[in-house]
Amino acid sequence: MSDGYLSFVNSPWGRRLAQTAGLPQPLALQRQREGQGGNLVNPVILASGSEGRLLGELQRIFAATDTVAAQAASIKAPSTVKVQGAVFDASGLRDVAQLDELYRFFHANVRRLGAHGRVLVLGTPPEQCKELAQAVVQRALEGFVRSLGKELRRAITVQLLYVEPGAEAELDSSLRFFLSRRSAYVSGQVVRIAEPVDVPKPIAWDQPLAGRRALVTGASRGIGLAIAQVLAAEGAHVVCLDIPQNAAALQQAATAVEGSALTLDITAAEAGSQLLGFVGEHGAFDIVVHNAGITQDKTLAKMTEAAWRQVLAVNLQAPLLLSQALLEGQGLNPGGRIVCVSSISGIAGNLGQTNYATSKAGVIGLVQSLAPLAARQQVTVNGVAPGFIETQMTARIPLLIREAGRRMNSLSQGGQAVDVAQTIAWLAHPASGGINGQVVRVCGQSLLGA
Ligand code: NAD
Repeated sequence: MSDGYLSFVNSPWGRRLAQTAGLPQPLALQRQREGQGGNLVNPVILASGSEGRLLGELQRIFAATDTVAAQAASIKAPSTVKVQGAVFDASGLRDVAQLDELYRFFHANVRRLGAHGRVLVLGTPPEQCKELAQAVVQRALEGFVRSLGKELRRAITVQLLYVEPGAEAELDSSLRFFLSRRSAYVSGQVVRIAEPVDVPKPIAWDQPLAGRRALVTGASRGIGLAIAQVLAAEGAHVVCLDIPQNAAALQQAATAVEGSALTLDITAAEAGSQLLGFVGEHGAFDIVVHNAGITQDKTLAKMTEAAWRQVLAVNLQAPLLLSQALLEGQGLNPGGRIVCVSSISGIAGNLGQTNYATSKAGVIGLVQSLAPLAARQQVTVNGVAPGFIETQMTARIPLLIREAGRRMNSLSQGGQAVDVAQTIAWLAHPASGGINGQVVRVCGQSLLGA
């Protein structure tokens, strides 16, 4: 689906007209292009508040990625030199007065950020703070980040990464995601980074998934196809799964990503045993993405029991049973990653979607409850919650509701399937073993459920 308004206001003629009429002017997002490598935005301005413990690790990553990271000489010093990234280590802030350091750094530097810039604030998880004031101040960072995300238009994104003490060395994959074009449609998010559940191995950053086997459900089109493409581009062998009725499109998708096709209805009674049979023949998976999903929208009074049950069966029961089967049947290798696709409807609820929102909220429950159990097998379980993504599913939404869905976020546009796929690739990354039990929204900081 194309967004006519976005193309229009980004044409020279449309830009002038929108300016004159005072209409919103969202910038078309810049995304990672294939073959572009994992470049971080460049240059970046970097500063640490009192007692920050992450500066050394940040500098190491910037040096390893050839990123020009100028440390702010004084966090008060304003400069007019443009930057594409701003990173502030707030991990050591421990009383309310020290929050002034956060204010001063961004107040002095926020105008220097170019369009499509990236902002990161790093903190210590409040629940890990020993002192009350420190926990309060660290929690306060969330409000700052979410508000800045709403203020900084021009396709700039803002996130908060809470890094547990002892997990400083786990920042790498998250920094490379959030400070790059891969995270174009992710903003206002809070992510916790802990010590990894698995044993870290050396990583080839240009092909991080080389030698890994991935399963993607619902891979014949839409978001699932984009996930298969991105995982394959990062080196994975992708097994594309979809219902037998979509066998032709599925085979096409599998061929395009040089992977394999597996026709299976994930709601079938024997789906778990069939999947384990496949594993027995071809080997265990390293990555499983539960993407297949359906909608059958009606207000509750008009909803049939069949529509209720079908949505719950595909979206919730199948990922639950298949994850259990794979974990119990040694279908996932140590270092494995399960990523579930939820939805912001599962966070905010949505009119006409009691079945869908129930299923997608259940998916969040699955992520949170399965994560500590799967960690015993060195497997992480995380989720993404997409907002409005331009696919065949959203193309069916009536025009006015569709237009509202597109604009009601900080970036004033819908996302692309690749935005969800890139977020999943970050969670599936071998260096993301410190991220577990989390759900990251891919919604341009949607107002729904914010
Ligand atoms: P889509 O309808 O384009 O694709 C879904 C795929 O899942 C289809 O290929 C379908 O055949 C497959 N599928 C359905 N039932 C299946 C079953 N029983 N067994 C195996 N495969 C089955 O949808 P999409 O827009 O690409 O959405 C993908 C996921 O993202 C879904 O879970 C959806 O709920 C979620 N999501 C989408 C959006 C959006 O804006 N498009 C927003 C939030 C969440």
